Amino acid sequence: MSTGVIRGTDMLKRLTEVPRIRGNLIVISGPSGSGKNSALAAVRSKVPDLVYSISATTRRPREDEIDGVHYFFLTREEFLAMKDAGAFLETAEFCGNLYGTPRSFVEGKLDAGEDVIMDIEIRGADQVRAKMPDAVTIFLMPPSLAELEARLAKRGADSPEATRRRLRKAIEEIPAVLKYDYVVLNYDLEQAAEQIRSIIVAERARVGRCDCEHFIRGFEMESQIF
Ligand code: 5GP
Repeated sequence: MSTGVIRGTDMLKRLTEVPRIRGNLIVISGPSGSGKNSALAAVRSKVPDLVYSISATTRRPREDEIDGVHYFFLTREEFLAMKDAGAFLETAEFCGNLYGTPRSFVEGKLDAGEDVIMDIEIRGADQVRAKMPDAVTIFLMPPSLAELEARLAKRGADSPEATRRRLRKAIEEIPAVLKYDYVVLNYDLEQAAEQIRSIIVAERARVGRCDCEHFIRGFEMESQIF
């Protein structure tokens, strides 16, 4: 994403996309079972240069989850020590477990001009919005509660009691959609992923986030040889 040391009229000719001042932070929230993981996997396969922010959690790993890939799995003590050291951008307790976004990774990538995508629940998204008002927030809406229950049951990762807790939580979470920039209905995974991809691509082209001065200078220089 860096513009390097391209000078003069070459500056324009060598670019294939508008250089950006900073990467975008894309926040995806939605009730547990709304399909965030599958939608994110589909989006990441479609969008180049999209970095996934790996969260830390005190939840126990599910069968197919790998430490350092899906989450950084920490003990409560480890998590709280990191929190005290100011290492998290945001944290929240969700269904009895702590979750948090490691701060330095996200900031480093954004500073390097890369887009970062994160999957966090609604209170964490509130904290991100307060600290980074430019964050692009997307709420993934499940089609119905019945569908949500079916998806959670199919996933089979939680006990019946934990599934009930997640469903109750989902009912509480839906009205939070009003605080988000975008809402995407996840009725069909491919369609939802395509909509999220379009949002990310469109947000990359916002004038305020692009180095348009680069073009203005380049065109000024080029105009001198016309
Ligand atoms: P799960 O236990 O199903 O992986 O995640 C439970 C909830 O925690 C999901 O809504 C997910 O978006 C959220 N979550 C995952 N990582 C983070 C994080 O770093 N911060 C916050 N606030 N929520 C997270």
